[in-house]
Amino acid sequence: MDTLPSIPSEEPRVKRDFDQMVFVNRNLTLETIRCYGFDMDYTMAMYKSPDYESLGFELLRDRMVSVGYPHELLRYTYDPSFPTRGLVIDTKYGNLLKVDSNGNILVCSHAFGLLNGVEIQKYYPNKFIQRDDTDRFYILNTLFNLSETYLYTCLVDFFTRCPRYTNLEKGFQHGDLFMSYRSMFQDLRDAMDFIHDTGALKGHTVKNLEKYVIKDPNLPVLLTRLKVMAKVFLATNSDYNYTEAIMKYLLDSNVKSGSQKESWRSYFDLIVVDTKKPLFFGEGTVLRQVDTNTGKLRIGTYTGDLQHGTVYSGGSSDLISDLLEVKGKDILYVGDHIFGDILKSKKRQGWKTFLVVPELNKELQIRVKKQSMFEELKRLDFFLAELYKHMDNGSQHCPDIIAIQDRMKVLTHRMDMSYGQMGSLLRSGSRQTLFASQLMRYADLYASTCLNLLHYPFNYLFMAPPVLMPHETVSQQSTDFASTELTVTNNIVKLTIN
Ligand SMILES: [Mg+2]
Repeated sequence: MDTLPSIPSEEPRVKRDFDQMVFVNRNLTLETIRCYGFDMDYTMAMYKSPDYESLGFELLRDRMVSVGYPHELLRYTYDPSFPTRGLVIDTKYGNLLKVDSNGNILVCSHAFGLLNGVEIQKYYPNKFIQRDDTDRFYILNTLFNLSETYLYTCLVDFFTRCPRYTNLEKGFQHGDLFMSYRSMFQDLRDAMDFIHDTGALKGHTVKNLEKYVIKDPNLPVLLTRLKVMAKVFLATNSDYNYTEAIMKYLLDSNVKSGSQKESWRSYFDLIVVDTKKPLFFGEGTVLRQVDTNTGKLRIGTYTGDLQHGTVYSGGSSDLISDLLEVKGKDILYVGDHIFGDILKSKKRQGWKTFLVVPELNKELQIRVKKQSMFEELKRLDFFLAELYKHMDNGSQHCPDIIAIQDRMKVLTHRMDMSYGQMGSLLRSGSRQTLFASQLMRYADLYASTCLNLLHYPFNYLFMAPPVLMPHETVSQQSTDFASTELTVTNNIVKLTIN
């Protein structure tokens, strides 16, 4: 019989901290990657939290007041402990929902209050939403949406408590004016478009780069090392002038003094702005050249070969693959938008994907700190299953599980609260969120920052932990917690580990 090669003992064993790790959903050999693509906002350019969200919140709030919303709204300030990314706004009833991949409701809040099971059932008798109904349900997928999530909550809170308005099922009445949850949401979306389109948010950011953008000296190190091994491109939805300001701040001062003065553009083989992702991963838009002196677009569609140092606008993933002479499978694309960057590039183009999840460090810290709660919940799950395991069709006994279920609810709520009012980005108790299931399905790799790639060699084989289907675990079950005993006395659940 062949023996497996042993791990060379002279190799130093590398121990990475949690916050330096890249996590793996599907095996990926870094050696086969011929091209690395990067998104800019919240991927290479990390915004400082909560200062940046506060800025977005204040601009939005002020815009709402300027279009006619009550001045009392100016009393609200951004509270980073409330919103979580990935929530869903129900524009019919003004609720914020956390759902799983099938649309089952995990958590529901109205204004700043969490609703209990009975209250949730009044709105959603099936405790379920048809999340494909995008006309009614809006998913707050990006970190840009946090300020919007919080302001919507403030609006519902304000009108609910303001004595001038009468609370109705789908909004608020004031004299002959009816303000629906839906119209409030639409006004908020319009305000969001306004602060983006007019450049208000960008203007403030560019004027205060040190306040709002994290400058990490490891970014130019990573890009320099990658460029030796592979092609590197930038594909951002931001416009040229903003991209220029941000990337210059992140990279320019790192260009070696004494060497020929090169700009941030020299770190990339190809730069595409105004990509209009997710459209970029499908039919795309017209590819134009950007005049880097004026920031203006050249007329006509660009049809030539790749010109080094040229900046392009628009285009599509097919066009840039052709320009870079690479296939989808050769590309590892790094982005923070689960839908626009990751799901679409994976589903439509078969690219390898790396999702940046800036919340991950906090999620990991809480998981480590609250380990005992996670363990207890896992054991209770196991005991629930055990209670039913040995029953068959003739069994008369009906196990009393109310105390265990109550304890699980208490634990789930406590765990959620340790992340913030709306809980974790990835789970509620032992159930995973929609965001978590999309992350597992579409991101090959994920980490809190793209800079964690620096902690691995460029021939690294990222191996996913083995995932067994339930029927494949039959022979293993019941060994994990075999030494644990559960007793229920006066509705109090007690676990004893022997
Ligand atoms: Mg982004």
